[in-house]
Amino acid sequence: MIRLYVQGDLAPGAAVAPTLDQSRYLTQVMRLKAGDELLVFNGRDGEWRVSVAEVLKKGVILRAEEQMRPQTYGPDLELIVAVVKKARVETIVEKAAELGAKRVRLALTHRTNADRLRLDRLDAIAEEAAEQTGRLDVPVVDDPVKLDALLDGWEDGRRLMFCDETGGAPAITALTPFSPSPLWGGATGGVLDRQALPTRSRLEGLDHPPRDGEGEGRWAILIGPEGGFSPEEGERLRSLPFTTAVSLGPRILRADTAAIAAMTLWQAAVGDWDR
Ligand code: SAM
Repeated sequence: MIRLYVQGDLAPGAAVAPTLDQSRYLTQVMRLKAGDELLVFNGRDGEWRVSVAEVLKKGVILRAEEQMRPQTYGPDLELIVAVVKKARVETIVEKAAELGAKRVRLALTHRTNADRLRLDRLDAIAEEAAEQTGRLDVPVVDDPVKLDALLDGWEDGRRLMFCDETGGAPAITALTPFSPSPLWGGATGGVLDRQALPTRSRLEGLDHPPRDGEGEGRWAILIGPEGGFSPEEGERLRSLPFTTAVSLGPRILRADTAAIAAMTLWQAAVGDWDR
């Protein structure tokens, strides 16, 4: 069944006006006509079965028939990613929607060589991915801001999984509850010549899955640019009380791969994959 993200309120019998582009898609691409049905969601009222009520020149009018699923949200996970090449940012936004991130924040770091990004295109990618993946909301994509400003205005109670290719706690042990262990230095040898860096390897209060909006479950994942984080950035990040430096293994991953890997680990370790 076709699923569309719409703006208007959804209630029994409500008239819903999709955008002109969406109307064209429904009538000209999908060849829907009056009486045909599809699913819509607006990020607030759950998922509704609607029928095509009228096909007008200036667009289609849908009528809300029945709520099929109540509104739910995934875990409160934000993905913060340094601006990299446009195509990779587009992939990251699409995968963030599929992997359940609530928000994608674009960061300008010391080594970002930013491509010019079109936020409207990123919003469209997020929307399309949300429609396809079956979620009931669309991740917000924020304008790029400096990483330092992001950290200066950090939201109280939100934890940060800092993906650091120079060394960090093994992601699974860093995220899943286990008996307190001694500080874990970064692994040495292997593909990367890593320094052993002190890393807190246990995140307090993570021994229960995050529930909608509750403090314990509010997390962010941070991925750096092609050139990695500068030493000053790494030092600042490690010094922050809400941060845990995490390794994604002994190989250097490209930013889009790292974002996908980190979100996968997080969802599997503490997210909603066991729901
Ligand atoms: N300097 C390398 C490069 O030019 O490819 C590293 C940058 S890497 C493409 C971008 C980001 O992905 C890193 O800053 C880090 O956040 C994440 N990342 C990549 N590999 C990682 C690993 N093995 N462990 C932890 N994070 C990693």
